[in-house]
This record gives sequence, structure tokens and C-alpha cells, in this order.
Amino acid sequence: MRVAVVGSGFGGSLLARVLAVQGHDVVLLERGTHPRFAIGESSTPLANLTLERLGRRYGLDDCYDLAAHGRWVARFPELKRGLKRGFTFYRHHAGRPFARDGSRTERLLVAASPNDHIADTHWLRADVDHHFVRAAVAAGVEYRDRTVVTADLLQALRAEFVVDASGPGGFMAHQRAIPSALHRMHTHAGLLFSHFDGVRLFADVVPGLPPGPYPDDWAAVHHIIDEGWLYSLRFDHGVTSAGFLLRDRVPGSPEQVWRHLLQRYPTIGALFAHAKPLMPLAYKPRIQHRLTRATGTGWAMLPHAYAFVDPLFSTGIAWSLRAIERLGLLFETGGPTEQDLARYDALLSAEADQIDRLVAGAYHAMARFDLFAAHAMIYFAAVSFAEIRQRLQQDNAWSGFLGVGDPQLGGLPRASLRRLRHVRTAADRRSFINWVTNAIASRNVCGLANPAAHGLYPVDLDVLIQRHRVLGMSRESLVSALPALRGGGAA
Ligand SMILES: Cc1cc2nc3c(=O)[nH]c(=O)nc-3n(C[C@H](O)[C@H](O)[C@H](O)COP(=O)(O)OP(=O)(O)OC[C@H]3O[C@@H](n4cnc5c(N)ncnc54)[C@H](O)[C@@H]3O)c2cc1C
Repeated sequence: MRVAVVGSGFGGSLLARVLAVQGHDVVLLERGTHPRFAIGESSTPLANLTLERLGRRYGLDDCYDLAAHGRWVARFPELKRGLKRGFTFYRHHAGRPFARDGSRTERLLVAASPNDHIADTHWLRADVDHHFVRAAVAAGVEYRDRTVVTADLLQALRAEFVVDASGPGGFMAHQRAIPSALHRMHTHAGLLFSHFDGVRLFADVVPGLPPGPYPDDWAAVHHIIDEGWLYSLRFDHGVTSAGFLLRDRVPGSPEQVWRHLLQRYPTIGALFAHAKPLMPLAYKPRIQHRLTRATGTGWAMLPHAYAFVDPLFSTGIAWSLRAIERLGLLFETGGPTEQDLARYDALLSAEADQIDRLVAGAYHAMARFDLFAAHAMIYFAAVSFAEIRQRLQQDNAWSGFLGVGDPQLGGLPRASLRRLRHVRTAADRRSFINWVTNAIASRNVCGLANPAAHGLYPVDLDVLIQRHRVLGMSRESLVSALPALRGGGAA
């Protein structure tokens, strides 16, 4: 089939290559050129499992190697990346340095891998996306950059199917006048961001914290503040990608807002005191987008063209890769039918809602760290359960992302958001925390929501073995499956 893919981020380029390997005749159309700056950098175990599967299924060795930090460094040292061992969260309070407060320290570390070798990565998108474009071309994809894509061009190219991989560029939304569904989204945030040189390590600014399951900074670091939160993603070559997600616009130029927030939160101020932005700070007033449909006759969108919620919990890359896997399977049998497209559309819609509710709940919970940490356990329960099931091959590409379709997990983000809206007192908070603990119990393969952990969750296969019944397995069969499980961890 003649397929046009519009947009050559890693998503469009990888799907174009998968289709070319299958024997389709693929043209990849890009309005810009590579290498180019992009954000959306933090991968996860679910993202990497999908990359590995795509690598194995279609003979894409580079995908397998890029799915783990150690293999990446050995095979592609020239592609810049950062070590990501897990998810780190801190709560900061205005005018006060971050407090070491014994077991009440507002710090949460959830390991995603047991060691550096098989750890996840932060992708320097300029390098990674460029790599995927070159690999697509090497696989036979016809690539045209600096191209203004129009309906006439697609017709001239004889495209029988169009994949919209244009991200927020919204190619198909403009072409087909697809209405926005932004009003459905609960999450609302603007973004102030750049890449920086010289961001200090948290351990240097706040020494003496109890050791966690991995060094705090080698992770997706989330600094929660009254106004929203700050992500900080460290690359191995010393650059850090950082951005404030702000519920409401703070008055002033991007530089003024940046300085104001650094002054207001002294520990964040100390971390960034000597940091130099590598490009001017930029502000985007609202980063969410959402459309009413993701497919139509002869076309389909990748997730980032259809919807985006927030960087919180790093869902974008994993979700995009999942969709690539689904479309890849549909093209193996000639190309998607109307029913296939309807199924793909319905799943993306449910998944966008799910991410939105989970993230919106997290924003509600940010006011109190104990609430936030409890709510976050719904995310970690969903992804760790999915990860283990995928490693045991009990899951397939059509299983919903973040618990969509799971009778135990599917309704939790919505229920949590509803409950969080009514939490007022300390007793409400305790009751919310107990509710989460019970609600995730039937999927809690990793010992999450455990007060004795004091917010520090390593990868612990012993806990997994103890919880064999959660996976519907005997202890013996789980032990014999351990080699398949050793690749990953809690998140
Ligand atoms: C602030 C922010 C932070 C994020 N953080 C994370 C994170 O930590 N972890 C994570 O997993 N995900 C994150 N994401 C999501 C992540 O960025 C996306 O999932 C990812 O970029 C999707 O890749 P893609 O290739 O589908 O689209 P994109 O990366 O958006 O690429 C789209 C491409 O299409 C091109 N294009 C656009 N319009 C046209 C057109 N009309 N014609 C031709 N070409 C066009 C663009 O030039 C671009 O090259 C984040 C997103 C944002 C906005």
C-alpha cells in the first residue's frame, strides 16, 4: 500500500520504517528539517518494552539497543541521552529550604530498574529523532523535508493511507477541520522551559538524605510547588532539560517568572543558581490539546497528533510507541479496515481520558504531599502490573494503556479525581490514603503504598514472588519465569 506519514518525529519515522520493512511503499513528509530541538524526553519501562518488541518483530536492532541505557551507550555513544533510574518527587514550600524531616521528608523515589545497565533513558530528541529519520531512509522510506503538505500533494503522491504524526502541528485537524475536544480535559497548565548547563545535584544542595534505591538525580525529577511543578531531566553530557508546569499564568516575561520562582523556592533556586539556559526561556500558555477523533476513512493519527496532557508521569513516549505497535500490526494484514480504525480510535480516546484524569488528580493532590504520593501509586500500580504482564507475555498491543479496560484499575483515576476534590481534613486524607491502598491491592505486584517504605521503593523481585497470586500464578511458576522478569522493575 502507498502510505504517507506526515511528521518525522521519532513516532512518524519509526512507524514509516516499520511499514517499509513490511513491504509498503512509504513517503515521510516533514515541514521542518533535522536535527531539530524537541521536548518530550523521558522514557519508561513500558516504552522500552515496546521498543524491544518492535525491534524483535521487524528486525530493527537499533530499537532493541536503544531500549536500555547500557546497550545504548555501547552501541550508539554519539546519540546523547541521560540515565533514568526511576521517578523522583520532592515537595517544596515557598520561602523555606527543602526540609529533611525524618520519615516525614516530602520525598518519593520509585525505582524503574534495578541497575544502570538496563535502566531507562532521557532522549536528547534532536539526536534520537534524527537517528530514526536516517534509519527510516536506510530502510527504503522516501523522505521529504521542508515540505508544505497539502491535500493536493498527498493526491499527487498517490497516498492510499495517511498517518498523521505531526504532533501538536495538527496536520489532519486542519485538513479535515476536526473539532477540538479540549473542553473535555480536566488538566490545565502552561509551560516555561529550556535546556540548561550547570544544574547542581540535589544531593549536593540537600546533603544527608537517607540513601534511596538509586541516586536521586538520575531520574525524572519532579519538584512540586504551590503553582504546579518543575521537571528536571539530566543528560549524561551535563545538560538538563527543565520546565515549570504552571496552573495559572504568573505575570512577567519568561525570565522574570523564572527568577521569581527560583527566589520563592530556595532549594530550587540553589539547584539552578549557576545554571545557564542554552536557548532563551520559552513560555507556552496551555500545552494540552485534544481532538474529537483520531481516525477516519484512509487515515489515522498517532497519539501526539490527537491529544497531549502533561509531562507528569512521562506517558507520551510509551503511549506513542504502543500506538505504533498497534498500527504496525494492522498494516501487516494489508492495512486497517474501518472496524480496525474504529477500535484504534476508541482506545486512544479512552486512553487520553485516562491520562487526563490521572494527571488532573495529581494536580489536585499536589497541595499535600501525602495525598500526592498516594494518588501517584495508582499510576505506579498500573504501569508495574502492565510491565510484568508484558514481560510474561500475558498482554498484547491492544491491552489498554494505564489500566484502560482493566476491571480493577480502569476506574481508579476517575474515582481518585472525584475523591480528591472532596478532601478537606486530616481525617479525609487518611481515608483517601487507605482507599488507594485497598483500591490497588489486587494489582499491586511491587509492594507499593507501603508506609514502612518511607517513600523509597526499590525494585524487589522477592516482593513480586510473594505476590504471585496477583498475577494468577503459583509461586513456582513465577520463580521459573524470573529470567524474563529480570529485565525491569517497579515502574
Ligand atoms: C512539555 C512536554 C513535555 C513532555 N515530556 C514527556 C516526557 O517526559 N516523556 C514522554 O514520554 N513524553 C513527553 N512528552 C510527549 C512527547 O513529546 C510526545 O509523545 C512525542 O513528542 C511524540 O512524538 P511524535 O513523533 O509523535 O510527535 P512530535 O515529536 O511532536 O513530532 C511531530 C513532527 O511533525 C512535524 N510536523 C508538524 N506539523 C507538520 C505538518 N503540517 N507537515 C509536516 N510535518 C509537520 C514537526 O516538525 C515534528 O517533526 C512531552 C510533551 C511536551 C509537550
